[in-house]
Amino acid sequence: MSGPQTNDDIDLVIVGAGLAGLYMLHSARGIGLNARVFESGSGVGGTWFWNRYPGARCDVPSLEYSFGFDEALQQEWEWTERYPTQPEILRYIDHVADRFALRDGITLDTRVLSSHYDEPTSRWTVTTETGEVVTARFVVMATGCLSAANVPKIEGSDDFAGEIHHTGHWPHEGVDFSSKRVAVVGTGSSGVQSIPVIADEADHVTVFQRTPAYAVPAYNQPLDPAEVEQVKADYVNWRTVARRTATGFGGHARSGEMQAALDLDPDARAAVYQERWEYGGLTFLGAFNDLLFSQEANDTAAEFVRGKIADVVDDPTVAARLSPDTVIGCKRMCVDSGYYETFNRSDVALVDVSATPIERLTETGVQVDGVVHDVDAIVFATGFDAMTGALNRIDIRGRGGVPLTEKWAAGPLTYLGLQVNGFPNLFTITGPGSPSVLANMIVAIEQHVEWITDLLERMVADGVTEVEPEPQAESDWVDYVNLVASITLFHGCSSWYLGANVPGKPRVFMPLPAFPEYKQKCDEVAAAGYEGFILT
Ligand code: FAD
Repeated sequence: MSGPQTNDDIDLVIVGAGLAGLYMLHSARGIGLNARVFESGSGVGGTWFWNRYPGARCDVPSLEYSFGFDEALQQEWEWTERYPTQPEILRYIDHVADRFALRDGITLDTRVLSSHYDEPTSRWTVTTETGEVVTARFVVMATGCLSAANVPKIEGSDDFAGEIHHTGHWPHEGVDFSSKRVAVVGTGSSGVQSIPVIADEADHVTVFQRTPAYAVPAYNQPLDPAEVEQVKADYVNWRTVARRTATGFGGHARSGEMQAALDLDPDARAAVYQERWEYGGLTFLGAFNDLLFSQEANDTAAEFVRGKIADVVDDPTVAARLSPDTVIGCKRMCVDSGYYETFNRSDVALVDVSATPIERLTETGVQVDGVVHDVDAIVFATGFDAMTGALNRIDIRGRGGVPLTEKWAAGPLTYLGLQVNGFPNLFTITGPGSPSVLANMIVAIEQHVEWITDLLERMVADGVTEVEPEPQAESDWVDYVNLVASITLFHGCSSWYLGANVPGKPRVFMPLPAFPEYKQKCDEVAAAGYEGFILT
């Protein structure tokens, strides 16, 4: 008779086999824990397994976007480009899984449906979609900040006769857009990356834009062997530096952070922006230290980018539509390869849906303001229910059977973005309230995994059964995150950092914009015997 299997020998269940889940498994094994990973996808890689859309690549340089925990790994892996493509990152992650012999601890094609805490036994019961039931002392949610796709609910979706894709769930076999008219909905990072590539292939592309993006050129290129040699000779130091910078970048952070934009006269300031623009990438926003704190300073950077858009885009009306008037950096900046230039093509059209949203899909296309734009395929580049989406899609219940969704009804509450009061022995990697998406995420992941591993090792050694945050520590932390966010300009637009892209989601600023200070705080908490945590 087939029925639910049970397995009571597990110390730790890890949900998710992206970068975070893999490193957590490796680390847990390193301290002798019996750990099991459940992953809903049919392969490892997380973000880089799912996001196979045309043009998908990382906007952190490859030499930075890689694990630093193992010297041999970082020496042996050869990146080919300044910004790695999705296939190259996925190859890297597969290599990590093989190199550290992780695959036998991972169950693929298995979505975790629920995780319930049993107070008498101090164990979590984890149930999967395939009917497996496992109990474990610890649970680590390595479910990803950007893994729960946000597919907009648009009337008439079932009526559309063509194909519909979301960039975050791209078919493995790829999509053939040749001879097709394609609609791309959304102009965040995934839209900015995919639109130029889709336009190269398709017959015609119509871009539906609600909010224009600020994009800085990538100037992607093959890696210079001399640079690689130089970095590898000093990799350990690079990684140390990365953990001390606000962005989690080691060598590419660049100087300038100590200078205020408003301290320079307009010409000198423009020269700094120009130099950053020519260097390319996300370091543009690090040109000055007041860009995310002073509206006046921010305006100077925004104006510079708008000038660049006007230079590139031939039609002034289209250029104006593509030019954001919001705070630069309060939404995640995009790094592009020919994005603005794409709108000079005669086979690319821009439809502004800020004032008149998409009304419905019809059998033949996308209807806006009574006009149907006929297309053969629709690509939703509409992003994710970020940071809390993947967690809230699991039925997580802590002490007294309280659901996490209930505890987080008004927005996420955590201590250090690592744990939630009432949910003992359950950890989140890059959870809300930690720097996460505001830093180079692989650096944030390593810091979290190592911190959690140290705590688990200590608990096992000292015979500690449970750990959870004190209620006061948690509420003080939430206040602190809000305070830090409130002195920045991050509230200046409707971003996914605030949950504004998902209808009905509480508007709470979720990541903490202070990576080095955060790391220091985590270190101090641990050094003080895990201050703010109750160890039972
Ligand atoms: P993920 O890679 O998201 O992995 C989480 C895994 O958990 C997924 O495989 C998912 O299937 C699985 N999962 C979730 N829920 C369940 C469940 N209930 N049951 C079983 N499995 C589950 N970060 C940067 O620092 N720089 C970048 O340039 C950058 N570019 C990005 C580009 C895109 C298109 C996207 C989407 C993200 C990007 N990110 C970037 C963020 C990226 O998510 C992180 O860098 C990193 O890959 C996160 O790893 P992770 O393991 O924490 O989460």
